[in-house]
Amino acid sequence: MKIIVPVKRVVDYNVKVRVRSDGAGVDIGNVKMSMNPFDEIAVEEAVRLKEKGVATEVVAVSCGAAQCQETLRTAMAIGADRGILVETNAELQPLAVAKLLKALVDKEQPSLIILGKQAIDDDANQTGQMLAALAELPQATFASKVELAGDWVDVTREVDGGLETLSLSIPAVITTDLRLNAPRYVTLPNIMKAKKKPLDTVSPGDLGVDVTPRLKTLKVAEPAGRKAGVKVADVAALVDKLKNEVKVI
Ligand code: AMP
Repeated sequence: MKIIVPVKRVVDYNVKVRVRSDGAGVDIGNVKMSMNPFDEIAVEEAVRLKEKGVATEVVAVSCGAAQCQETLRTAMAIGADRGILVETNAELQPLAVAKLLKALVDKEQPSLIILGKQAIDDDANQTGQMLAALAELPQATFASKVELAGDWVDVTREVDGGLETLSLSIPAVITTDLRLNAPRYVTLPNIMKAKKKPLDTVSPGDLGVDVTPRLKTLKVAEPAGRKAGVKVADVAALVDKLKNEVKVI
């Protein structure tokens, strides 16, 4: 059973992003880039399924610039068997990525595609859903538990106010939530081993996909700064302010 795990190279979650002075986007020059944290969880889950003997091969896929190779090597250091880079310097929006992944799904015929629930740079939360629609596959998003039984996979999802368990026939698309697992630390020997694993490069043209953006960013702005608070002398003063100034009680 083959599992495909799409991994995105994003600005590291520890970096405080700055809006560019022209308001056209955020500044990503000279900032640390890492694998999208939800994708690390997806790779970890796929590798655990392989270690349990449920999966036979884990293929990591990244779409973007040549530097995405580093992201693929990290996925292979966690335990993915090989990587595919869909190389392009074009701006990739979720629909374009979903189309590229659909083309690879047609070619590779995986039983599961495990994506992150969202990329922390665009917070789109769209790619998995779009891929499921394009490939006409069942989907379970925000997974906090994944259990395979024969040709079915049971996925527990985090929904408002509780947990929902769905049973999907495979092949299927799953997107990971934070509590699915805690990804392992990548060790030096595994980083070295990952360097020897196969990494293929294809272009969007090779896959017959037009990645032209469909959305235009009009403006990017910093959130408004918070105003300073005030200290009140006692509970009575607080209640008075809430009642007469803010008028919330
Ligand atoms: P998004 O819909 O942009 O929030 O991304 C959701 C998930 O889709 C990510 O967690 C990745 O698993 C996958 N994904 C998005 N963009 C890419 C990309 N450029 N390369 C590989 N996977 C991606």
